Formats: sequence, structure tokens, C-alpha cells
Amino acid sequence: MNETLLIVLSALLAVTCLVLLARLRALARSTEESRNGLSRRLSSQLSDVERERRRSVELLEKMDEGVLVLNDTLTPVMANGAARRLLGFDSPTPAHVGSDDILSLARRAMVESRHVEEALQLWPQRVTVRVRAIPLEDQGGVAIVLQDVTEELGTQRIRRQFVANASHELKSPVAGMQALSEAIRDAVHDDPSMAERFSEKLIGEAERLGRLISDLLDLSRLEDPANVSRRSTNLSRVALEQIEQVQTAASSKEMHFKYHIDDDVWVQGDHQQLGLMIRNLLDNAIRYTPERGAVTLSVSAKRDEAVLSVSDTGMGIPLKAQARVFERFYRVDKDRSRDRGGTGLGLSIVKHVAELHGGHVSLDSELGEGSTFTVRLPSGTPERTAMRSVAS
Ligand code: ADP
Repeated sequence: MNETLLIVLSALLAVTCLVLLARLRALARSTEESRNGLSRRLSSQLSDVERERRRSVELLEKMDEGVLVLNDTLTPVMANGAARRLLGFDSPTPAHVGSDDILSLARRAMVESRHVEEALQLWPQRVTVRVRAIPLEDQGGVAIVLQDVTEELGTQRIRRQFVANASHELKSPVAGMQALSEAIRDAVHDDPSMAERFSEKLIGEAERLGRLISDLLDLSRLEDPANVSRRSTNLSRVALEQIEQVQTAASSKEMHFKYHIDDDVWVQGDHQQLGLMIRNLLDNAIRYTPERGAVTLSVSAKRDEAVLSVSDTGMGIPLKAQARVFERFYRVDKDRSRDRGGTGLGLSIVKHVAELHGGHVSLDSELGEGSTFTVRLPSGTPERTAMRSVAS
């Protein structure tokens, strides 16, 4: 039996019981004086019906879906708890429906003698509901089933937006590569030095595309918490590995690269994902700090937390952009980020990894002075082998 049918049957049962109950009560009253035996039987049937009615009402009250039953003049005869919450009724038998949209949907269902369904916005409740209007037998009224889909539609909208943004971001290096390949083909005979310059640019665009695809893959892996292991991980060691990876980029900009890393700071988590998080913070610090600037990485254990921070003396982030830099594809300066090889995904990866590990990331930045990103993660227990080697 499908869910809607069950809901409608429960609602109908509750309403039918109510009507039956009233009739039986009247019948019992009229016959009680004259026929005592019949009266007793009727009383027992009355309590059976009453029990059924209570059970149906209880079932309806416990449902997440709102159920509203309207009679043939489209006046409410019953609204369960969810319907009262969604439609702002303060009684199970409100005087009127309140929403013109729902009323016209109910009218259509009754006139056309068929189920009618629509997603409607309810104001001022600010919720989106999927409304199903189901005509009752013999034009006896309409059952309205309401389902709150605000969150579901919100998630779908975010996903659609992400796919649109990702496609747009992918299109631009692909278009650049196509234009450059054509330019190389045209220049290769007449102007070989120009062709060489174009091919350098082509390599740059291909690298950008590669970075974008790799960031997108990292993000999609992080979407599924099952991909993140929960092993004892030495955050100090992960940080040292990442420092090695960015040394060349830092030296090529003659940066003062400093680090203060406490020994053996442990967290529960995923070595590779934590490495990715640190790498993104270091890449950004180097990318957005001018030559001969300073970048500092520190890792320490504070009470029950592992604290990792990356500071730079770079361009800083304007106050109004600080709350948005962790959004996917958000950049303070689109062209500058692209020119420096950014994809707009680095900080959202950082935020995801921190949160998947039960922690969070914060930002402290001043325009023209520099930025500090701090990640706080719950402390983990040291790996067994490491405990033994410390003890020996
Ligand atoms: P991108 O790949 O563009 O660097 P991110 O998600 O890593 O994307 O960062 C988002 C934006 O935040 C960047 O485009 C940049 O404008 C800003 N940003 C990130 N890190 C820093 C930093 N250390 N200093 C200044 N700006 C930064």
C-alpha cells in the first residue's frame, strides 16, 4: 500500500469514526430506556469505535506529513499536528484553509475528480511544501497531504548551482586551449617564436585544467565521509611532509619560510586528507604573499585540541570577503586568483577536511598586512607502535 493511500485512509478512518460515533451515540440514547440489552451491545460497539478513532487520530498526529481533510464545501473538518504546524492553525478544526493556493488545488482535485500535486511556497512560514490534493468518494470532500520539502529543494538548488559553476570553470581553460592550439597551427610556419610563446601558454592552460579537475575530485571524495579514515595520525609528521613539498615554490619567491612544530601532535583522521588541507593553506600563503614575504606554519597541542596555523605577510583579505572565502569558487579577485594558478576550491577543501575531522577553521586577516588561518581539531590517541618507541 503506498504512503499517500495510507495517510488518506487514516484520515478517512478518523473522520468516518467521528461521524459513526455521533450516530451511534444518538441511537444508543434513543434506545437505552426501552431496550436495555440492545443498549449494552451498542455501548460496547461504541467503545470499540471510540478506541479505533483514538488510534487513527494518534497515528495521524504522529505523522511527519500534514493531513488536512476538507468537506464538500471545502471547509476544514480535521487537521493533524503537522498540518497545524505547517499552516499555522491553532485548532484541529480550523475555520478556513487560510491559503488560497491550497484551496484552489483542492477545488481542482474535486472538479477534475483526480489527484492534483504541486510544490507551493507558504508565507509567512517561509517553507516550501509539496501538496497533494486527493478527492474523496462521491465528491464528499478533499484530503490534502502536505510534505515539507524546504531542505530537499534547497540541497537540490545548491547542487545545481555547483554543477553550473564547475562547468563554467572547466569551459574557460578548454576554450583557451582550443584558441591557443589554433594560433599555434597558424603561426608554426610563419612565426615559430610566436608559436613557441603560444605553446607555453597552452601548457599553462592545461596545468590549470589539471588542477581544477584534481580539486573537483578531492572535493567529491570529501563529500562521502566513508572515504575518510579515522586512524591515529601524527599531524606533526603530516605538516613536515607538506613543508617539503612547497619548499621549491617558497624558495623561488625568496620567502622566509618558518615553522614551529611540536613533536607528535596526534589527531584521529586521514593522513592524506590532512595533508591536502595543510597543502592548500601553504599554497595560498605562498600564492598571495609577494616575493621575500614571510610564511609561518605552526602545529601545537593545546589541552584536548591540536592547533595548526598558517600565517603570511601577504595581501590580506578584505573584511566583507572573509566570511565568503570558504565558499566553493569564491575568489576575492577572480583574475588575480586565476593568474596565480588558483581554482577557487582550495579553502572549501580546507573547511571540509577540518569539519570531517570534527574541527573547524577560522581566519584572521588584515588588508595589506597578511592572514592567519587556524585549524583546531580534537586531539587523538597516539599510535600503539609510536607509544612503544617513545617508551623504549
Ligand atoms: P584559490 O584557488 O582562488 O586560491 P581558495 O578557495 O583557496 O581559492 O581561496 C579563495 C580566495 O581567498 C582566493 O581567491 C583569494 O582571493 C583568497 N585567499 C585565500 N588565501 C589567501 C591568503 N593567504 N591571502 C590572501 N588571500 C587569500
